[in-house]
Amino acid sequence: MRKTIVAGNWKMNKTAAETKALIADIRRMTDDGAGAVEVVVCPPFIALESAAAALAGSNIALGAQNMHAAALGAFTGEISAAMLVDLGVKYVILGHSERRTLCGETDAIVQKKTRAAINAGLIPIVCVGETLEEREANRMVEVVSTQVKGSLADVTAGELKADKLIIAYEPVWAIGTGRTASKEQAQEAHALIRRVLSEMTCGTAATIVRIQYGGSMKPENAAELLAMPDIDGGLIGGAALKADSFAAIIKAGC
Ligand code: PEP
Repeated sequence: MRKTIVAGNWKMNKTAAETKALIADIRRMTDDGAGAVEVVVCPPFIALESAAAALAGSNIALGAQNMHAAALGAFTGEISAAMLVDLGVKYVILGHSERRTLCGETDAIVQKKTRAAINAGLIPIVCVGETLEEREANRMVEVVSTQVKGSLADVTAGELKADKLIIAYEPVWAIGTGRTASKEQAQEAHALIRRVLSEMTCGTAATIVRIQYGGSMKPENAAELLAMPDIDGGLIGGAALKADSFAAIIKAGC
């Protein structure tokens, strides 16, 4: 039985003070994250420490939006896995399409980060998804399969079975556009990801891995998406910046 997981990707939004206020509202509206759905918030780096303090005593976990693959060194402006762990971070989003597109992150880079995150005890949320151009050229299967194989190249079946990694299917054409994948389109991609994982690990690990959907998920469409057999949660952008819409999505997953 896979526990539904709903994570908010706040992107480059919210100061430390605004983070505290939003977390207080989320705690109030979600009964402190108690219940059937696992809840994660991923504020910007500068707000992680305030967020950790604001989350103390709740069931809501803290996530980050990126990290560097190296343990330490001359990487100006970067943050390591150990630094995140030190702040109480449990999850880290890796390979988000904005980082793949705007920062040139390749599957090989995402794979190194994924390995470093798992080794440090973080749970990576590895994002994959095709662009509109790729979907319209009937390349969704090829693109998503390649990203999963490349980004998770050295993840073991044991790690997958132990819930040490989450995948987020985020069709790029649905991110921040208001255009959501239909529940059938999302289910098809999630089932594909599970098949690829099954081929990679030759076994049952693929049935254990949780796969989130991300791309304009909101209170109005969350319940139907979360009801699909291979959709195990949501990675939420815009709708995670307001406590009421984030709480409504969490409720839809219960
Ligand atoms: C995201 O960027 O991870 C995302 C899903 O954004 P939105 O919900 O705003 O489409």
